[in-house]
This record gives sequence, structure tokens and C-alpha cells, in this order.
Amino acid sequence: MKADALLIRNGLVIDPDSGMEGLRDVLVRGGKVAAVARDFSRSSRLPPGTVTLEARGCWVVPGLIDLHVHLREPGGEQSETIASGTRAAARGGVTTLVAMPNTRPVPDTPARLRRLRERIRRDAVVNVLPCAAVTDGQAGSRLADLEGLARAGAAAFSDDGRPVSDPRLMEEALFRAGRLGLPVLDHAEDPVLTGVGVVRESPASRRARWPGIPAESESAMALRDIALARRSGGRLHVCHVSCAQTLAVLRWAKCEGLPVTAEAAPHHFTLSLDDIPYGSSRRAADFKMKPPLGTPADRDALQAALADGTLDAIATDHAPHAPEAKACGVLRAPFGVIGLETLVPLSLELVRRKVLGRRRLIELLSAGPARVLGLRAKGSLRRGADGDVTVIDPAASFSVDGDFASASRNSPFIGRVLRGAVRATVVAGRLVYFRKDGGRPR
Ligand SMILES: [Zn+2]
Repeated sequence: MKADALLIRNGLVIDPDSGMEGLRDVLVRGGKVAAVARDFSRSSRLPPGTVTLEARGCWVVPGLIDLHVHLREPGGEQSETIASGTRAAARGGVTTLVAMPNTRPVPDTPARLRRLRERIRRDAVVNVLPCAAVTDGQAGSRLADLEGLARAGAAAFSDDGRPVSDPRLMEEALFRAGRLGLPVLDHAEDPVLTGVGVVRESPASRRARWPGIPAESESAMALRDIALARRSGGRLHVCHVSCAQTLAVLRWAKCEGLPVTAEAAPHHFTLSLDDIPYGSSRRAADFKMKPPLGTPADRDALQAALADGTLDAIATDHAPHAPEAKACGVLRAPFGVIGLETLVPLSLELVRRKVLGRRRLIELLSAGPARVLGLRAKGSLRRGADGDVTVIDPAASFSVDGDFASASRNSPFIGRVLRGAVRATVVAGRLVYFRKDGGRPR
């Protein structure tokens, strides 16, 4: 729906960036936040043609920013496309996402990145920031043209899906990306330690005879990369942290004042290896991701780290795979689960369980990731910020039944009833998603 101006009224505005929390109306005009005020709708200041969205009982927050999404296009359109993935984002309340570069081809040259941005302009319904590759073809042997990629619009650099194994290459990537003011998004994994593992190693994995992955596969690589960030002066962002060991390493880095940030994914702070259905290889495929689900102690440590600032952002690592690909059982299925459309309820659960206050939660979903990327006009409801807004109904509940906007259904949460739903998603003042059972916009 297109309108000159959109008034979101009577909601509980929570804007960690400005510190604002209270019942307010939010006016978005010309694609920007024009005003946040009390009882706006009663005043005569409303521009003619303003569309009103009633948000009573809802939270009105800066549009959510997801630092880690696999849109699969180009090359993996059977699993997801820019169109379907951004529709899933809109449904999940995400107004800006970082698209990971493990596509075919990989955006590893300025020309390829420009072609990708054309597809994004054509098909995306939310803001998509493309992440470029660190190395040619993500093959890990030669650095890509990071400077040219930055000029072509790269938001960050990553070989996500695989690590940059060669430490000299990683050091130089951090140095050059740092000079460009862009972070390297680190898929911290030691491929030798991972080996052929499919789930975290544990007594249960050994009983099931499924090859295990040790926690050190992540923590050892995160430690190496933090050390390289220190040597190079570059900015490192550790992706999808899954274990307590890595959190200890991150705490050290932050104590040292290093420019290191980190994210955690809802599946890692909600589930543990105890939730994996070891009796059914086929169902377990939807619990298979990299890094793998950790111990209950790891899960609890992630929750504490979201609260205490060791982690800077919640990111989904939305990794769609077509049903056929996941149907072949846990040993052969590809790694990854979808996450965009369950992001809000799984995150809200932390507030309900009093792990986090609601303001801290919203910070982890908006201002926190905006800082990681150095985005000044996003993650905020200050006047003049981009008109990206998410309206959340914390009391609504819905059952995850596999009816996703995503083209894939590989979610470990299918069959669960989750509380907290996205009511509306607004991108640059345009309503890109609206949940019908919450009353219609007028
Ligand atoms: Zn990754």
C-alpha cells in the first residue's frame, strides 16, 4: 500500500536508540520518520491523505535488521528467491537484511555485485544489503577486489558458509576491509575439527552414530580471527555464535577494546542438542545447521550474553533448503534452517522469561545490528531516520504449521505454538506486510 504519509497510532513506542519508551503516535512521511508524538491523530497537523494504522496493544519499534540471511538467488532459486525471501522477511518484521554471498555465482566482482543489486531493486520488498565475498568464488585462495566491491555497494564481506582458512588471507582481508570502514562477517569454523560431523558431539550423537562436531571448531577459529583483527586493526563480526567457549573469547576481545562484535541466532538460544530427534534421521535434518545446536549450558550462556552485551545482535541465519534436499536424512541433508518468520516470537520469549528487558531485546534487533554495519539512518525512530517500522503484537499467538512465505519449510519449530506476532511491517513508509486478524488499516 502506498501513501504520502502513514500514521501508526496508539502503540507502545520502544526506540532504544533515542531511549524513548511510551504510548505515542509515529508519523512517517516522504519515506522518513517525521514525528513521534502523543495524540497526533487528534491534532490538525496531519497531512491530507494520511493513512492510519491502529496499533493499540502493540509495540511500535524501529524496523528490524537481520545481519544474516541466505536468499539463495542467483543459483538456488528452488530453495528461495529474492522475492520469496524478502516476503518472508516482511512477514517476520524484518525491514533490512544482509544477503549472504554463497550464491551461484558468488558476488566476488564489482560487475556481479552490480547485477545482484539490479535483481534486488526489481524484486525485493524490504531493504537488502548485499554482502560480498572475501575470496574469489569463496574458494579461500585469493582475495576478491574488496575496494571495487565496496564501490559497487557491498555492505560487508564474508565467505559465509565456509571459513577463510588461510590466516594470512584473513588478516589481509580484515586490514583492507577495515580501511574501507566495512566489517568482515566471520563464519568461525575450523573445517578440520568439523570433519564430517553433522551435529554437536555428545553422548547422544555417539549413541545415534552420527559424526559429532566439537565446540572448539567454532571457538578456536573465533579466537584466531579476533587475534587477526587485533593485528590488522580491522573490524570483525562473529556470526551465529553457538557456544559458551566462544562467548568467553568474545568477552576477552571486548575487554581489550577490540572492534569485535557478534550475533546469535534464535535457534541457538532457544534449542539445545537435547531437542534433536535422534530417533528420526529424517526429522533431525531440520535440526541440522552450522554451527550445530549446543548443550543446554551453551544455550543458557547465549541468553546471558544477549543480556550482558557480549552479543550485539540477534540474526536469523535464515538458510532455506528445498524439501527434497532435506528429505534424505540427517547425514546427507545440507546444513541450515529457516528463521525469518519465527524471529519475533522466539526473541520475545526471552522477555517473557525475564532474560531480557523489552528495550534490550529491541536493541538487539534494530540499533545493535545497525551499529555493526555503521548504518546511521536505520535502527532508530528519531526524526529524519528511514521510515522503517515494525509493529509487534506481543499477545497474539500462532501455530507454526509450515505455511511460510519462504519457498522452503526447513524449520525445527513446525508444530509449535509461538507467542508474539508481527502485526505490520513498514519499509520507507510503505506497508509491506499486514496481519489481517489484527484489524484493517484505514
Ligand atoms: Zn555461517
